Amino acid sequence: MTSPAEAKPTADKIAQTARRMLSEKAEYFTESVIREMTRLALQYGAVNMAQGFPDFPAPAEVKEAARAAIAADDNQYAITWGAKPLRDAIVEKFARTQGVTVDPEREITVCCGSTEAMISSLMAIINPGDEVVIFEPFYENYGPDAILSGATPRFVKLHPPEWTFDPDELAAAFSPATKAIILNTPNNPTGKVFDRAELEKIRDLCVQWNTFAITDEIYEHMLYDGARHVSLATIDGMHHRTITINALSKTYSVTGWRVGWAIATSEVTAAIRKVHDFVTVGAAAPLQEAGTLALQMPQSYYETLASDYLVRRDRLLGILTSAGFRCFKPRGAYYIMTDISAFGFPDDVAFARHLVKEIGVAAVPGSSFYRNPADGRTHLRFTFCKKETTFQAAAERLAKLRR
Ligand code: GLN
Repeated sequence: MTSPAEAKPTADKIAQTARRMLSEKAEYFTESVIREMTRLALQYGAVNMAQGFPDFPAPAEVKEAARAAIAADDNQYAITWGAKPLRDAIVEKFARTQGVTVDPEREITVCCGSTEAMISSLMAIINPGDEVVIFEPFYENYGPDAILSGATPRFVKLHPPEWTFDPDELAAAFSPATKAIILNTPNNPTGKVFDRAELEKIRDLCVQWNTFAITDEIYEHMLYDGARHVSLATIDGMHHRTITINALSKTYSVTGWRVGWAIATSEVTAAIRKVHDFVTVGAAAPLQEAGTLALQMPQSYYETLASDYLVRRDRLLGILTSAGFRCFKPRGAYYIMTDISAFGFPDDVAFARHLVKEIGVAAVPGSSFYRNPADGRTHLRFTFCKKETTFQAAAERLAKLRR
């Protein structure tokens, strides 16, 4: 017979036992701060300038294509590495925009968003002891991605205000243990767009140490002030070393669809496809069909997208500057990193909490983009993928902020 004490363990005991049974990997990172800020925004009725998802409609023809695909019963699994028409459309667009020719049969894996493309790519190439170079501040997923794949991250600072890297610091991060560098350009959260000379410096190190580069190019069409997006795969010597990641999410304002892809040589792709297949089987079939149409949109679509985002960038720069933030003007992507020193809060998290609870605006604390939280304590990130009424509401609320 069990004693009553054994039959009824205390809540503390249950929690303790449960924690002992969890994976160490999962214990090493916290939940996403970006996505937590969205939940806080909902809880406090705050204007969400935190998580980077558009609050305006996706293109009508893209939505119609998704409806049509469902109506036509395109509702069963697509081929695990992606429906053929979508892979063909990805190839055609990559050739048209960047001049890179790839084989749709052997060099593309369609995944559940670029998020899955990144973790599946890492899991396909990482062995115990491998290191991955990551520019910092970094999109927060890359930290947990490294832990989950078993890689040790080596962070290299991007220095404000231009978010440049010191070539010597970058060189010092490479070693025989380096398996890859992760490059996000245009960059989240800084808005930096890496230029050709910088990409060539990265290339030199990848060649010297015989490493991969994994690029996240999801903001490729959001460019301002004459910035140009250059895919690392186009740089001499990088084609066969680069895993190029992209998605429908940002370009076609469908972040909830979860359709992205990884482009790599056939050997690397074979490994990515295996990981992808057993982790997710595949991305949503009817949304892949709609993506095929999206990727064939005319050049004018991308021009309008960029010019609309320029207006939004300048609108948010104006709002934040009037409210007392020092802004780092982005040349790409759809975020503004700010300096919050003038407000006199102890750190970014305290300020972000005040902002969401008392002022009614959600933003992302800078520390979530740094390994050492202290490095981000004077920063806050705002997104501008929002409609005018959202800007209006944010402007009214931020005007109440006291410096
Ligand atoms: N990339 C977006 C951001 O940084 C959203 C990412 C996400 O939550 N999946 O806000």
